[in-house]
Amino acid sequence: TAIAETRKFEAEVAQVLHLVTHSLYSHKEIFLRELISNASDACDKLRFESIGKPELLAGDAELHIDVSWDADQRTVTVRDNGVGMSREEIVANLGTIASSGTRRFLEAMSAEQKGDARLIGQFGVGFYSAFVVADKVTVLSRRAGVPAGEGVKWESDGKGEYSLEQVELPERGTAIVLHLKADEDTFLKRWELRSLITRYSDHVAFPIRMPEEKDGKPSETWETVNAASALWTKSKSELSDEEYQSFYKSLGHDFNDALAWTHNRVEGNQSYITLLYLPSQPPFELMMGGRDERKGLKLYIKRVFIMDAAEALLPNYLRFVRGVVDADDLPLNVSREILQHNRQLERIKAACVKRVLDLIEKLAKDEPEKFHTFYQAFGNTLKEGIAEDQANRERIAKLLRFASTKGEGSARNVALDDYIGRMPVSQDTIWYITADSHAAAAGSPQLEAFKAKDIEVLLMSDRIDEWMLGSLNEYAGKKLRNVAKGELPLDEEAKKQQEEASKAAEPLLNKLKELLGDRVGDVKVSARLTDSPSCLALSDYEMAPHLARLLREAGH
Ligand code: ADP
Ligand code: MG
Repeated sequence: TAIAETRKFEAEVAQVLHLVTHSLYSHKEIFLRELISNASDACDKLRFESIGKPELLAGDAELHIDVSWDADQRTVTVRDNGVGMSREEIVANLGTIASSGTRRFLEAMSAEQKGDARLIGQFGVGFYSAFVVADKVTVLSRRAGVPAGEGVKWESDGKGEYSLEQVELPERGTAIVLHLKADEDTFLKRWELRSLITRYSDHVAFPIRMPEEKDGKPSETWETVNAASALWTKSKSELSDEEYQSFYKSLGHDFNDALAWTHNRVEGNQSYITLLYLPSQPPFELMMGGRDERKGLKLYIKRVFIMDAAEALLPNYLRFVRGVVDADDLPLNVSREILQHNRQLERIKAACVKRVLDLIEKLAKDEPEKFHTFYQAFGNTLKEGIAEDQANRERIAKLLRFASTKGEGSARNVALDDYIGRMPVSQDTIWYITADSHAAAAGSPQLEAFKAKDIEVLLMSDRIDEWMLGSLNEYAGKKLRNVAKGELPLDEEAKKQQEEASKAAEPLLNKLKELLGDRVGDVKVSARLTDSPSCLALSDYEMAPHLARLLREAGH
């Protein structure tokens, strides 16, 4: 390979760079958070690698992140002594779009035709945010474990190309040097950088150091400027809401406050700490229907970051939860495979589910507005739990809210318990109807007989409802039934009437069957209708027509 060369960015990188630099102008300052977060990841990675290879830390075991500035050169530098990057890694990480998240970000941003700064952190296009404030970025990096002569210098103006060069680097790790644009002088002031670190990066688990200032210049004395503590190890009484919120932001790549959290320490023959947050809005991934991106729950073992372990620690239907699990009794060298089949983790997972459901229940009970926000954002995701988590089905069902013929318009705010509370003692069934839209559900002729008898019907029109109901046959000892399916429960009087009507209508029914042929299963006289002359009904085991359509669309 050549010692020095110039390469072009992958086409998509150029696009991302363009989008990022044009949409972040109102949140310029997050470049620092993103670079520090990468530095912190690099320290995490090295600490993890050094478990098996302690020699990687040789002579430089205190992992830290240094932020400095040079007013004469007009540069800001973020340096870490973490894992570093080889030439190949730099090319792959900074010259191409490696992560699927970034790719989806690109699609989403292009589709929206407008930049939303909120999205950027969530998709982790972090490094490129450097080009919002810099017109040139120099990266100097040396992979842990390789000789000083094999350092790499990467440099780019963020336009279309970057240069690569092999250089001598005395220290392990990565330095990112930002050559600031002409009008970005604010970032050359120590107090400005420092206050950004406090605002965005206070809870990074490694010390972030800054030189003290002497005669307006950085001196040789370094000072740690962040809290650098594992916040979750503190006790609840020591922590303020602000601290919880700022930790949340350092975790979740979310600019917004968390909606609620639950923080617990379990001691005993298995000790662990969980700190779990509910976001206040769905991350973009979730809104786009993304299911594979499972980030946001970090597994630590004795304060050492091990990996993002949302799949191992949370069921799919709680994938919106963010936070930290810190276990004391797992081997530090766990692998992803071990994670999937570890009994201790199984128990921690069950505990996480319980804590989260407790938290949501508490919101439903004590903080209806927050619960509403939660349900708007994640109600449909939660419904997946009805099928996915048999053990908690009843608890989850209790949290669901629906529109109803006795509710307020299309608002989804009737709980199954509300419905049961209004049921006459003689009723033993919870009735519902499913349709493509709320209007179609509310206007269905199937409801006529129920209206006439003043029986409440839940109106379900979310895409997932029909599928969910396949797993929800019963709640609190009451059957759930679709008004469009099978026979209606009739009293003796009505039964007799219907039989007589059927007999009288036999010639008509036969004629209709003949005309409709294969297109229908049967033509019957029904007690369903009071105003409309006819409607389509389903037999008990038939799929609702809009679900059938959905499956057809999905290629089944
Ligand atoms: P993300 O952090 O979400 O992966 P970024 O754009 O912030 O995306 O970073 C891209 C990649 O570049 C990182 O995944 C990492 O592999 C590499 N990288 C960036 N900064 C550093 C650093 N300081 N040390 C080592 N690797 C880094
Ligand atoms: Mg990053």
